[in-house]
Amino acid sequence: MESQEQVQCIICSQLKRDGIHICTSFICTDCESELVRTDVLDDKYSFFIKQMRQIVLKKNA
Ligand SMILES: [Zn+2]
Repeated sequence: MESQEQVQCIICSQLKRDGIHICTSFICTDCESELVRTDVLDDKYSFFIKQMRQIVLKKNA
């Protein structure tokens, strides 16, 4: 079960095998679960949104 390639997470920049792909970008399971838990008022949420925007910008480029 080592055929899966590691992908760089856009949130934590770590190379992970498990996670979700959004467009051409990747979010690892750790960050995904954190994203779900993150409160809208949390500073981290703004960071996530910023990272998400980069995906959209890349997609439209
Ligand atoms: Zn991550």
